[in-house]
Amino acid sequence: MVANLKTDVSIVGGGPVGLLLAILLGKQGRDVVLVERYPEIYQRPRAVTMDAEVARILATLGIDVDSDPGFENHKELYYWKNAQLENLQIVDWESLAPSSWHVTYWFNQPDLEARLFAMAADYPSVRVLRGWEAVALVQDDSSTTLTGANGDTIEAQFLVGADGANSFVREALGLPVVDKGYFFDWLILDMIPEASYKTSPAQWQLCDPKRPTTIVPGGPGRRRWEFMVLPGEDADALASEESAWRLLEPWGLSPENAELERSAVYRFQARYADKWRAGRCLIAGDAAHLMPPFAGEGMCAGLRDATALAWRLGGLLDGYFSDQVLDSYESERKEHAKHYIQFSQDLGDIICIADEAKAAERDARMIADLEARGGAPITGDLVELGEGAWIKSPTAGELSPQGVVRFEGREDRFDQAVGHGWFILSLKGSADGLLTPAGGRMVASRRACALRGRV
Ligand SMILES: Cc1cc2nc3c(=O)[nH]c(=O)nc-3n(C[C@H](O)[C@H](O)[C@H](O)COP(=O)(O)OP(=O)(O)OC[C@H]3O[C@@H](n4cnc5c(N)ncnc54)[C@H](O)[C@@H]3O)c2cc1C
Repeated sequence: MVANLKTDVSIVGGGPVGLLLAILLGKQGRDVVLVERYPEIYQRPRAVTMDAEVARILATLGIDVDSDPGFENHKELYYWKNAQLENLQIVDWESLAPSSWHVTYWFNQPDLEARLFAMAADYPSVRVLRGWEAVALVQDDSSTTLTGANGDTIEAQFLVGADGANSFVREALGLPVVDKGYFFDWLILDMIPEASYKTSPAQWQLCDPKRPTTIVPGGPGRRRWEFMVLPGEDADALASEESAWRLLEPWGLSPENAELERSAVYRFQARYADKWRAGRCLIAGDAAHLMPPFAGEGMCAGLRDATALAWRLGGLLDGYFSDQVLDSYESERKEHAKHYIQFSQDLGDIICIADEAKAAERDARMIADLEARGGAPITGDLVELGEGAWIKSPTAGELSPQGVVRFEGREDRFDQAVGHGWFILSLKGSADGLLTPAGGRMVASRRACALRGRV
């Protein structure tokens, strides 16, 4: 029998981005239907690393990545080395970032997705339908209607396509894509070595033109190797199990001391949708932007999209915002995502060099730069959002750093001590006169508070 469901927001795609959005809307008590075409969690090797801002997002869900067994942080520097194992670049992954979490954490994407899926399904107002493939989408001024391959329909006030790189929603809406013409094939191997297996450094890039290689953790109990497919090489042949073990031999791994959990060849690409909205429908995550994984920022960018959408959709459903707030979603997030696409390409341009002469030039330049800095590690820049929904001021759109604060008897990171939502922070101890009367009423209707003193 065909079902016709009605909901506030329908989400196409049960990857990390769609699931996070469903959770954030579920926390607000919104009625949500999320559809995912695969009946089971997708098992191919993908994200292993996340940054401090994403750690901060997960903390709002109650996942503390410093103590949670699903995550690890090596509190070590990150090295880029040449074929002679000389340092080309050193990155500070030891310190705390301004978000008050470590710069980098390691995890296993299928485990994270399984966890987010369980969390989303736990909200009474969220329905997660697995094995449900969206095949048609129409909208008018007041609603959107999604049709599944099984003939079911879902009518929603708003629809979000978080349906990955080959997004059906993006295609159905006719949203144009800017392709940056970047293509490199890499073999990805997820390994479970014996507990006694040790390797140092824990996280590094081997910029050897004979075989550019990434050697990183893969979450607790796992390690990840990524090998570039060289020009003219047969990617399928390289991906065979026999060839995988041959590539792993110099790293001391064999079927006797390690399990090859997952392997896949991916074509790394760089592209973004030029429009992220059409009427009541939006796209997020890989559907909106795709980047090579050299910066480990693809999923992170998508989780930021989900966060930026959740409060906007909530305010719209409550009638506090006009739908202009959806346009600022695109302008705010697109510039940020484009920055990371370009940054990932730049990193790829350093590592994906298979030509000996070009590699020698790169090595000389980078070693000279590193020596000029006295070998000091670099730290990442804070990346500003594009123009958003905020009042224009020189600091609006910058990341709000967090420290440890005391609030209502609890001492913790700001987000955990104070909570998540709308707040007025005032050094004067009172919010009087800071807002227009309308703004004041809106904030008062939510849980807003004025905090005194330094945070
Ligand atoms: C090798 C590799 C390494 C990576 N490493 C990192 C990293 O370290 N850090 C990082 O941040 N990112 C990394 N990424 C990127 C990260 O994996 C992706 O950015 C992330 O999975 C995107 O999440 P998403 O939810 O937008 O899309 P996806 O994970 O692709 O999920 C989309 C979902 O939509 C479903 N779907 C599609 N079409 C339909 C339809 N018509 N109906 C219903 N469901 C549909 C799909 O089945 C899928 O489950 C890596 C990627 C690769 C390939």
